Amino acid sequence: MASLIPCPHCGQRPKEEFTVKGAALARPAADASLEVWFDYVYLRDNPRGRYDEHWHHTSGCRRWLIVTRNTATHEIEDTCDSAAREETGQ
Ligand SMILES: [Zn+2]
Repeated sequence: MASLIPCPHCGQRPKEEFTVKGAALARPAADASLEVWFDYVYLRDNPRGRYDEHWHHTSGCRRWLIVTRNTATHEIEDTCDSAAREETGQ
């Protein structure tokens, strides 16, 4: 059974069209401490459950998406355009 990702621009597409680029973390303020920036750049949690990740629709619309995935079941809970989320601040 193919895994499908619901791209907000292209509809349901096979996961092979996408490239995963890691956790979608909130970027620290420019003047944040060195420890905060070190965590943001180098340290990652290994959560079980709901997790936001940046996915690039490489073989489709070439937009950056934020895919909310359950790391235990691999179920896709939500997708949205990364730029749209930045505009709303969520
Ligand atoms: Zn797309």
